[in-house]
Amino acid sequence: MSLLIVNAKIIPRPADPAVDALLIRDGRIRELGPSATLRARAPEATPLDAAGRYLCPGFQDAHFHFLQFARGLGRPWLDDCATRDDFRDAVAAAVARHVGEAPIILEGWDETGWSTPERPTRADLDAISGERPIIARRVCGHVGVVNRAGLALLRERWNGPGIDEDTGWLDEGPVVVLDNLLPPDRIEALEALERAGAVCHRLGITTATDYPHPNEVPLWPELVPHLPLRVTVWIRHPANERHVAALPRTDRFRSCGIKIFSDGAIGGRTAALRTPYADRAGGTGQLVYEPERLRAMVRAEHDRGRSLAIHAIGDRAIEEVIGAYEALGEDLTGRGHRIEHFELAADDHLARVRELGVIASVQPNFLRWANDGGLYESALGAARRDGMNRFGSILRGGGRICFGSDGMPAGPRLGIRLAATREPAAERIDDETGIRLYTEAAADATPGAPCRGRLAPGEIADLVLMEDLPSRSEREDVDVTILDGRVVWSREPATNARRG
Ligand SMILES: [Zn+2]
Repeated sequence: MSLLIVNAKIIPRPADPAVDALLIRDGRIRELGPSATLRARAPEATPLDAAGRYLCPGFQDAHFHFLQFARGLGRPWLDDCATRDDFRDAVAAAVARHVGEAPIILEGWDETGWSTPERPTRADLDAISGERPIIARRVCGHVGVVNRAGLALLRERWNGPGIDEDTGWLDEGPVVVLDNLLPPDRIEALEALERAGAVCHRLGITTATDYPHPNEVPLWPELVPHLPLRVTVWIRHPANERHVAALPRTDRFRSCGIKIFSDGAIGGRTAALRTPYADRAGGTGQLVYEPERLRAMVRAEHDRGRSLAIHAIGDRAIEEVIGAYEALGEDLTGRGHRIEHFELAADDHLARVRELGVIASVQPNFLRWANDGGLYESALGAARRDGMNRFGSILRGGGRICFGSDGMPAGPRLGIRLAATREPAAERIDDETGIRLYTEAAADATPGAPCRGRLAPGEIADLVLMEDLPSRSEREDVDVTILDGRVVWSREPATNARRG
């Protein structure tokens, strides 16, 4: 089966400006060239007239929680709530709508925009129902709140810290692994994958990432034959060797390495800082591991030949992670080691990461919290806010970054737009660079990535067509998404005049 895309503005721009067409055969890119040349060469191919639209590799979201995102799509969302009353009303409506006894899990509240930005408590939920477990997770995924029955349920399944009986507040551990404490069965997981596939195709995502908890890993071999897009996984430390060995290796699925958390998140004030949060006297967040322990873990996984993706948001956590990588005492270029988020990095951190050959896996989508009066400013103050997520500085200094969304929210076009229009202007990334960071650079930061995110003969044909560059429109969906050489999403009906 052949598909010929003609009249396209190709990104990255080909050296020869006459090149505006791309021929696909059997799921792979065969040739790029001028439209007339390729038309004559492949008369049998189905034509797809791009009509001057942009053609680029399919987006690869280098930091995503695909299964959690997929399950979340089937849950009630609280991101529209503008006040605590809205929150209570939305939870009550969801409980009324979902008849039965099963726990109700709600996602995405964000009190930072509320008129009184206070965390909801157990009392808010107990007033709705004390008997049916209700668990509401904050948008950051690191903080939550439960009612009385929810507390009892979590107490059965979680022995660690992070549950406050009085307030019903959940911090870190039990929230981060919530989906694992309440795992899906096979049917729920397959339905979730189908829903998530449709959303990803619409956003132009052809490769997503997942960070499975060790207990979720045995579920993946059953899911792999049904994946609606490519998924690459980093398994949370400590991985079970037998389960890792049983993971399949296909064009749709790869296991890349190990994920370690070194701190929390800014929303929950758990990211580990060198100087206190602006709005909480004395609080500097928390490191997940003592520095010595982190170094030992990094050393052990590195010596096993594994790549590492280490979550570090605050400057104190970033310091510890860089220190652990430096303690390996070698050039890490080509080893696939990453630091996830790398948000509050200091000047010397930028230089040391470049020296090490470690990749910063950053989230332009988080810039939604960098607005005046927004979360980052209230948590850290304006000066520190302006020194975060310095994508422009990292690239100018010769460092390596890749883009991902962390699902907050998913959407490469949104992230590229935020990076292209942000303040301070010196840290902006133009559209074409942003596209590279969400395609080729994301693949390069993913050891064993089946699709390399490049438009060249022999490469897997994962592509998107867009009318505008991301910074020029508010649209988050793309016009056409092609996966393995087949159209999986088209904004217009397939019979539209644009298609031959
Ligand atoms: Zn994450």
